[in-house]
Amino acid sequence: MTTLDRMLPSLRARLIAAVLLVQVLLLAGLIYEHIEDMGERLREQAHLRGQQLTVLLNASLSVQLIQADYAAAQETLDETYRQAGLSYLRLIGQRGDVIATAGAVPDPKPSPMARSIWSEAEVLAMTVPISMAGQQLGTLYFGMPLDFLATAKRHAFWDSLAIGLVAMLLSAVVLAMLTLWVTRRLGQLTKAADRVAAGRYDLDLPLGQRDEVGRAIAAFQQMAASIQAREEELRESRNHLLFLAERDSLTGLYNRHYFRHELQRRLDEAARGGMEGALLLFDIDEFKLINDSFGHQAGDDILVAVANEIGRMIRRSETFCRLGGDEFVLIAHSATEVEVSTLAQRIVLALGNMRFEMAGGRQVRLSCSMGVALYPAHAADPETLLAYADSAMYQAKRAGKNAWHLYQPERDSAAAHLNMLTWKSRIDAALDMGMFRLVYQGVYAMPGRRLSHVEALLRMYDEDSGHLVTPNHFIPLAERSGQILDIDRWVIRESIRQLKLNPAMPPIAINVSGRTFDNPEIVGYIAEQLREQGVVPKRLVVELTETAALSDLADAERFIRQLRDLGCHICLDDFGAGFASFAYLKHIAADTIKIDGLFIRDLTHDEQSQVFVKAMIEVARGLGVTTIAECVEDEATLAMLIEFGVDYVQGYHLCRPREALPGQGTSWDVGH
Ligand code: C2E
Ligand code: MG
Ligand code: MG
Repeated sequence: MTTLDRMLPSLRARLIAAVLLVQVLLLAGLIYEHIEDMGERLREQAHLRGQQLTVLLNASLSVQLIQADYAAAQETLDETYRQAGLSYLRLIGQRGDVIATAGAVPDPKPSPMARSIWSEAEVLAMTVPISMAGQQLGTLYFGMPLDFLATAKRHAFWDSLAIGLVAMLLSAVVLAMLTLWVTRRLGQLTKAADRVAAGRYDLDLPLGQRDEVGRAIAAFQQMAASIQAREEELRESRNHLLFLAERDSLTGLYNRHYFRHELQRRLDEAARGGMEGALLLFDIDEFKLINDSFGHQAGDDILVAVANEIGRMIRRSETFCRLGGDEFVLIAHSATEVEVSTLAQRIVLALGNMRFEMAGGRQVRLSCSMGVALYPAHAADPETLLAYADSAMYQAKRAGKNAWHLYQPERDSAAAHLNMLTWKSRIDAALDMGMFRLVYQGVYAMPGRRLSHVEALLRMYDEDSGHLVTPNHFIPLAERSGQILDIDRWVIRESIRQLKLNPAMPPIAINVSGRTFDNPEIVGYIAEQLREQGVVPKRLVVELTETAALSDLADAERFIRQLRDLGCHICLDDFGAGFASFAYLKHIAADTIKIDGLFIRDLTHDEQSQVFVKAMIEVARGLGVTTIAECVEDEATLAMLIEFGVDYVQGYHLCRPREALPGQGTSWDVGH
């Protein structure tokens, strides 16, 4: 802040000060000029008077000097001294003798015209030769008093100053009023701008004036109105997006994404507060049959009716969601086992009482099977709890449907344990005996459909059946048993070996499990393999699933950074499956995201998925990340994705996973 800003903080004060300063300068100049001018004129008049006196005195004194009538000369001087009000008179003869004198002659002789603007020489001294017919007879000295001149100047100065001050005062008042009128409205405008900045739009602005400030106010009012409209639009679209993100478009119930998030929240709450609750999972018995017999529309109508019917029985503490298809789930938070049993019974009964009139007058009776798992009694993590509720639901189905079953750990764990044991030894055997295989699926750049790279997908060769077993059968178990580390190491080794054997082929993308990148040695292992086999790192793409990355963000960030430093490409797989994908994308420095097949499979029919996919592509592009869409199964989906601006596409429509690599016989080209 400058001194000027401190002394004159307001625009109004500065304007007034500037105008007054100019006025003071002007006034000073004017007064000076006026006094100078007036002094000059008065002095001229005094001279003139002196000259007139000179003529008169010469006429009478010359005669008196010729006649040597010095007494008459003295009389003339006395008379003139009195009548003309002179300061002094002195008549000197030709020989320098004083002939006559009147008044007090100053001594030494007064210096003529010693003056300044404020003071005048007190006397105007004049020297007059007294002569007749060209012959000088003597010299007359006389002085005219000039004090009237200084008095006149002083009067003139004070008069002008008084008039000037009154004028300045008047103009200051007028200026103050004028600036008050202008700056008051500017002040209102500033206050209005502050309100808008704080998000408040109820402005009280003086409208209707046609001057510059009035027009600025009108323009501001208009701008504020359009900002408000924009904000409302944004809020609405954000709410709509949030609704789409959380709700199932058919029934309006919460969707799977919201369910996952809510269940985790409730489990955390229960863990903190020592509360209990339950998960009630049910589906409609024979729904597929109804769908196939009466068409999808009838199926949809039934789902909506079920959602409404059960929705009416829900309390505030319960969350009701549709997981997909005919599968519904209810989180009953802070409920005892007895309360949960009553609720389960009521739902099964209510659904059992529902009747539907179908086209052709046929009546359909509904029923459901429900599985119930309690938290924290049965499990305290969402996946296990849901798996237990699912297992109980199948027990209910096996027991004859139209019923509910509480999860029974004894019955379930025995089977699961057995299953786990068999798979564990099968994986060990496959690792030992080289029963793992890689199949490859092409990833194509759009819109040109050129092969960009291939994704290596794992298979286990089953000797008994001669089939290749897909990873969903053994990867989850291998992750739990820890064998996944060996499996992923094998995949890394094998892919890099293939890259070495086929130097002309495009890059290979490998999938790495969340368990693996927890392990600090894995990046070193990849680097070592690349070095040993002489393969450049940029030919290797590493895919890790988004959900695994999010479960331990710090590990994922470190893993990704090290791999990128090494020179490998990073792809975030199954993107969008996590609840807060967008929020985390900023932190995870991936080169590419692969949009989860969940959003792609039904893309052309599902408005919600379209909104998501579009948003994902836009956000990724904004962050400089490329996008892949997986599971593209038909031309219509492909066309829609190209229209949305996706960078790469993968799916059965373009290329099924195959054992041969590009350049090994079969063509990898795809036509238009
Ligand atoms: P992912 O990485 O998302 O792989 C894509 C899966 O979608 C593959 O299934 C692929 O065969 C399948 N797919 C490709 N195109 C289509 C299509 O158009 N329609 C449909 N319905 N499916 C399509 P796959 O091979 O069964 O692999 C399943 C998951 O297992 C993979 O998902 C990945 O997460 C995991 N996985 C596969 N190979 C490995 C591996 O080597 N290591 C690890 N840790 N995980 C692996
Ligand atoms: Mg993958
Ligand atoms: Mg995927």
